[in-house]
Amino acid sequence: MIPLRTIILSLGLTIATLVTYDVQGSGAAVNIGLLSTKKQTSVILTPLFGDYLVNFDDKEEYQLKNQDLLHLVMVDGKITAKTLSGHIGSFLSITISPLGSNGSLKLKPVIPYGKTRAYDDALKISVKDDVLQVINEVNIDKYVAGVIVSEVGLNTTFEYYKVQSIICRTFALSNFRRHEEEDFQLCDKVHCQVYGGRCGAEDIATGAKLKGPGDILDAALQTSGLVLIDTAIELINASFHSNCGGQTVNSEFVWTEAKTYLKSVNDPYCLNQKQAKWQKTIPKIKWLNYLERVYAYPVNDKKMKKQALSFTQKYRLEYFNNYKAIKLIAIRKDWRLRSTFFSVKESGNNIILSGRGFGHGVGLCQEGAMRMADLGRPYKEILHYYYKDASLIDIASLRYLLK
Ligand SMILES: [Zn+2]
Ligand SMILES: [Zn+2]
Repeated sequence: MIPLRTIILSLGLTIATLVTYDVQGSGAAVNIGLLSTKKQTSVILTPLFGDYLVNFDDKEEYQLKNQDLLHLVMVDGKITAKTLSGHIGSFLSITISPLGSNGSLKLKPVIPYGKTRAYDDALKISVKDDVLQVINEVNIDKYVAGVIVSEVGLNTTFEYYKVQSIICRTFALSNFRRHEEEDFQLCDKVHCQVYGGRCGAEDIATGAKLKGPGDILDAALQTSGLVLIDTAIELINASFHSNCGGQTVNSEFVWTEAKTYLKSVNDPYCLNQKQAKWQKTIPKIKWLNYLERVYAYPVNDKKMKKQALSFTQKYRLEYFNNYKAIKLIAIRKDWRLRSTFFSVKESGNNIILSGRGFGHGVGLCQEGAMRMADLGRPYKEILHYYYKDASLIDIASLRYLLK
């Protein structure tokens, strides 16, 4: 058994995360930066459901009810606030939080114009470099559900949503300090995880529960607090990709760091799925010129030339043709290939790249995991299949270790 002291010493990063996260079980909130690349100077807010309390510079209060709206515009370094009943004043910060335990707001970007989205829980708006900084302070499980709607969509199984909930939560918490200097924890872009706002689990008009979004929110709530950790009790890098083509990749093939839980596994589950195969045809001369020009590959050597035109990968390799100067990830990038898991064969004046899978191939294969879930495999088994020696833990129990 590992002595408790050792466990606590090894908690370094995790402790830092917990301090910021302030674990309160499912009640924990995260701050997500919205519209952060937009230079937003005008927005309109309307309650979608629930009544809201608006605080202006932590002093004045205003109740924002159904049918009402709040129009915020940047004027001379301050936020001018107007409602349907008139002008309220100019302020530096505005907090809008639900009066009850739940609430959701519609946010319409006016200048620049953007798509209206809905956000659960609270919005905090302040001035930063003469533009509006908009932050959604939202329950982490609702955030996780919102991410899944954007990153996975509505057409998979409940068990798979549990898998993805744990991955998204682990990813969010392990990247909690990415935007520390901007006063929020994660952005809503691909840089962190794409978050398009509220996962609407019920029909707004009738209140009836919707199948897809309802399942996503339930899966996030049922796995609330669960995260993946490695043997050093650090949150793992829960990377995933669309389809591995039948074998996942060691993390050091793609990035520099080897991780014990990101080791290659054989994956028969994704072989017949949508993204399992691809092909690309390239003129032979272009291919050889590329290898010679960029990597000084000896195309005038008869044997080497032949091998460059008949490269095969029965299993995942790190280098093209065993030629150490050429990493397969570099070829993937240069030719915008769907994966590094490809073979080369000649066809007249061309070569044909026959590829398998889509994405970097490290960690969990989404199409394989979805297939496993379809076959009735429980979420724990699916996670352990791809992240071999990672453990599932309730983040609240990590806090218990610290007491
Ligand atoms: Zn980010
Ligand atoms: Zn796979």
